[in-house]
Amino acid sequence: MIRAIWFLIKVAVVIAIAVWLADRPGTVTVTWLGYVIEMSFAVAVLIGLAALALAALGYRFVRGLLRSPGKLRRYGRSRRRERGYRALTQGLVAVAAGDAHTARKMARKADGLLNEPPLTMLLSAQAAQLQGDDRAAREYFTAMLDRPETAFLGLRGLLTQSLKAGDRVEALQLARRARSLQPNTPWLLGTLYDLEARAGDWASAEGTLQQAIQAGAIPAEDGRRHRTVLLLERSFEAERRGRGDAALSHAQQAHDLMPGFVPAAVRLARLQLAAGRHKQASKVIERAWRQGPHPELADVYREVTDGYDPVARVKLFEKLLTQAPNSVESQIAVARVAMEAKLWGEARNRLTRALEIEPSRRLYRLLAELERNERQDEEAARGWLAKAAAAPADPAWTCTECSAVSHAWGGLCGHCGAFDSLQWKAPTLAVSLMEPTEAAPALAKPSAA
Ligand SMILES: [Zn+2]
Repeated sequence: MIRAIWFLIKVAVVIAIAVWLADRPGTVTVTWLGYVIEMSFAVAVLIGLAALALAALGYRFVRGLLRSPGKLRRYGRSRRRERGYRALTQGLVAVAAGDAHTARKMARKADGLLNEPPLTMLLSAQAAQLQGDDRAAREYFTAMLDRPETAFLGLRGLLTQSLKAGDRVEALQLARRARSLQPNTPWLLGTLYDLEARAGDWASAEGTLQQAIQAGAIPAEDGRRHRTVLLLERSFEAERRGRGDAALSHAQQAHDLMPGFVPAAVRLARLQLAAGRHKQASKVIERAWRQGPHPELADVYREVTDGYDPVARVKLFEKLLTQAPNSVESQIAVARVAMEAKLWGEARNRLTRALEIEPSRRLYRLLAELERNERQDEEAARGWLAKAAAAPADPAWTCTECSAVSHAWGGLCGHCGAFDSLQWKAPTLAVSLMEPTEAAPALAKPSAA
């Protein structure tokens, strides 16, 4: 609407000028190089206007010509970027699809077309990794460390590589460096915690574990158990350094966190026993027994009641029986002390009851022992031993990571170095009982203090 009005105004002005000129006739005479040109004033004005219009057109044409290379260049650049991003996208899709060849080709193409090192370096590294070229991937990841915007990604790549290669010392350094850049990344906290624990750096691991639980990397219930294991390892460490009080207080904390956790109860009771606190040690075992009878608890109870008359000791063990009367472990524990006290009838009753609850290799062996000691009946003993040989293996501290069996509990698997991986269960493979290896010096076995 405004444009139409504006146009009408312009037309009106032109008409007004034309009328004004027509009303005032006159001539213009031009003398140039001997020529004389005569024309009316109106025509002269028209020629002047036409000349101006031509000049304006010429100016625009020349300006357009002068500017076109820049425009062409810009057009070329945007085409290049477009192609670069397309290559980058295709490369990422290829990585996701596991197509190493295309990924690498697209990475090179994107790198040539785009001036975006953070993006193309990551793609190049991933493509190299996919192709199994760890050295090239490592170079890309290392180059990424130089730029603040890619440093964390580079560290993550290098960390994954060193974990894959089993270089835990380097992995720990990288993980600590990565945490200084991004302190609250859940996966990083979980990994760092595990590396610190495997390295036997118990105090640092405990701090990182708290952070990992807060960040949601480790469920609270698992975290509680991990913390218990860490406290037990700190207790062993304190004992090795001759700090008996700290050893006892760490064990007490561990036991308070998980009263039914056998290694914690065993550790605390043994330290209390060593400090001459027999009564407290008995209470710890009885409390743990109520939550879950276990042969190692029975062993410590035997140590606690060592000074007693054999028959009085059987009476004490019956306390355990009242804590968990239907447990095969309760029956076996009483039967063993009864055999030592030569209370054969009591021993036989207990073992027979245990056999009704759940037969096991260990139980058959005890029955063989009873036949030999009570009745000197070799034939009956051999019968039980044959049954023992055919029975499935008894539970032991078995690593959930590598299936190796340790004869004593520890926070680290003596075979594969995994943290908190030992569980009391029947070994799945026929792995011989092994001693914790020298390769894992941080592994400490609970010893009779
Ligand atoms: Zn293991």
